[in-house]
Amino acid sequence: MGLNYAKRMDNIKASEIRELLKLTEKPEVISFAGGLPAPELFPVEEMKKISVEVLDEQGTKALQYGPTEGYKPLREQITKRMAKVGVDAKVENILVISGSQQGLDFSGKIFVNPGDVVLCESPSYLGAINAFKAYEPKFIEVPTDEHGMVMEDLEEILKNNDNVKFVYVIPDFQNPSGRTWSEERRKRIVELANQYNIAIIEDNPYGELRYEGEFLPAIKHYDTEGRVIFLGTFSKIFCPGLRLGWVCAEEGVLNKYILAKQGSDLQASTISQMQVARFMEDYDIEAHIEKLRSVYKKRKDLMINTMKEEFPAEVKFTNPEGGLFTWVILPEHINARELAVKALEKNVAFVPGGSFFPNGGNENTFRLNYSNMSEEKIVEGIKRLGKAIKDMM
Ligand code: PMP
Repeated sequence: MGLNYAKRMDNIKASEIRELLKLTEKPEVISFAGGLPAPELFPVEEMKKISVEVLDEQGTKALQYGPTEGYKPLREQITKRMAKVGVDAKVENILVISGSQQGLDFSGKIFVNPGDVVLCESPSYLGAINAFKAYEPKFIEVPTDEHGMVMEDLEEILKNNDNVKFVYVIPDFQNPSGRTWSEERRKRIVELANQYNIAIIEDNPYGELRYEGEFLPAIKHYDTEGRVIFLGTFSKIFCPGLRLGWVCAEEGVLNKYILAKQGSDLQASTISQMQVARFMEDYDIEAHIEKLRSVYKKRKDLMINTMKEEFPAEVKFTNPEGGLFTWVILPEHINARELAVKALEKNVAFVPGGSFFPNGGNENTFRLNYSNMSEEKIVEGIKRLGKAIKDMM
């Protein structure tokens, strides 16, 4: 049956990661593919207790509709998370959403007419590219180096394109590259956004997961005209299954996101918001994040050190200061999609890098996640992957 779908659906394909994740559910597969947190660190017992308490004490409220903006005690807790990344926000600046992914979709909905230009890092987060695609933009990829997006290139592009709506960036431990922006570039992008009248979508799920190096404030910290829209999430510092994230923006801008939220699903789950707020009030979230940092740092170092031993010298990779991913660049003639097939034969999975470039190319790259597998599996998986690479050299 050939139903008559909207043209926008032509642009949307199944996410390669989602497809891969289906395969990696097999227990024998060592998966570096998804961006999954370590499940053994989820506070299951605490959440069990909290769920009962919330229902005992505020049961009818927990099961009722709530305000679109979100549950106020949770929004208060979120202002504390914003302070941790150097942003002085009030409750009125916070909208609770269903994961930061929803904020990406809303950004497309709010800003993009078909044919408008969206700027992003090259490479950029696949989930954002797919969310924006529904609104039929033209993507221009801005070159990046080890200090983030190259500001001279950004300026040149802004000079030559007058229908840029926003620039989408992940300044801390970027997904997929693992790279972090310098302070200088964080300041400069705000100056350029002011000069060229565009918005900055700052997507920051990993900012609090720094394992080494010096703390740097979010880009939003340098915002002088209310142009930076910050997307945050509990997925990586807490649990992704609750599907809770937030938008932090100036009130006028936030109002647009509140309207989008109303049209989409009215509000985030009341009971989930109450549970998370209570965890933040009654338990030590800082200690929880500290624990994540120490476990992930160990796994990251182990993956990097094993790659140094097991990968051929021609293969390059990033050594991130935080976050969940390292980015691998193979010699030009090796195709990472072909390597992925060979690796899966050895029960090892990763995401080929090509799909992180909205305009294609770069097929000799791939992304590895180190947060989800045990240390033993990291070593074994990297050994197998090293062997698969050598077979293709
Ligand atoms: N942005 C980036 C850069 C991500 O890596 C992710 C998750 N992988 C998200 C947004 C979406 O996260 P969530 O919806 O769980 O908050």
